Amino acid sequence: MLAAHPLRLAYLLDHRNFVAALTVKAARLGDLGYAVQAGETLHLYRLQRGDGDGPRTYLVNPITGACTCPFHRRQVDTEPMTLDGSIVPCKHVLGLGRLVESTLIALRAERDSRYFLLCAWWIATRLELRSRHSPLLGLWPTPDERISSCHSPSKMCESAR
Ligand SMILES: [Zn+2]
Repeated sequence: MLAAHPLRLAYLLDHRNFVAALTVKAARLGDLGYAVQAGETLHLYRLQRGDGDGPRTYLVNPITGACTCPFHRRQVDTEPMTLDGSIVPCKHVLGLGRLVESTLIALRAERDSRYFLLCAWWIATRLELRSRHSPLLGLWPTPDERISSCHSPSKMCESAR
């Protein structure tokens, strides 16, 4: 019998509890020290975390559910967690929406120009997820109305005057 990874064992023993714990962590990405910015291509997000082990960067695509973190990579490259081979989404995918929304609110309050790219990325991603009826949308807070009312740089510039 193959030796299973401890995370896979934990998942197989009690997948509901495993996913519940993952969802709790996912909702706290900001508290865990993660920052997010728009990636190089549409729907790609760069998550960074600086901690005792040095900075870590993961690229997350919520449309495909892909992430460059070990949790996701191990499932794709080595061994799926599930018996049917489906991929268990990582906390970065599960928590992306909440982290992006809170980041947008902070960037807007600081009148930081990085707001516009992240906002454009996020609007496009949400539309794409909606067209695919993605369950991820149900995990995330409704977009802040201050964000949806400020799609264009000109509006923010007006309010900055
Ligand atoms: Zn991940």
